[in-house]
Amino acid sequence: MRWLMDWLHNFMAGRRGMDQLSFALLLCYLLLALLSRIFWLLYLPLGLLSLVPLAFALFRTLSRDLARRSAENEWFLQRLRKGAAWFRTQQMKFRDRKTHRYFKCPNCSNTLRVPKGKGKICITCPVCRKEFIRKT
Ligand SMILES: [Zn+2]
Repeated sequence: MRWLMDWLHNFMAGRRGMDQLSFALLLCYLLLALLSRIFWLLYLPLGLLSLVPLAFALFRTLSRDLARRSAENEWFLQRLRKGAAWFRTQQMKFRDRKTHRYFKCPNCSNTLRVPKGKGKICITCPVCRKEFIRKT
């Protein structure tokens, strides 16, 4: 078993290995492969489609172009963080739907939370100090 570990260690030297994007691609492959088994009419198209993220994950894991793979992963993580932030905002909006309203600053697009039922009020953005009038 030792020789196998040594060989693998040498083989992976200087290569990217797994990162978050490759992991997400593998999950994508598993999901598509699972769906192709559930919907048997789509077995072939989904089965073939599932090979795309699998091939890309394999290519990225074995790639020696570390700078480019790193940039791809960073791009992916940025999208992931944005998505998570959007989801958190939706959760907060739902939680406060009876007591507060949410507005976007027209200047810096920062999200602002304002108490509901105060009529027309002037809102000052705490980030950029822009004032705008909204009905709450
Ligand atoms: Zn603002």
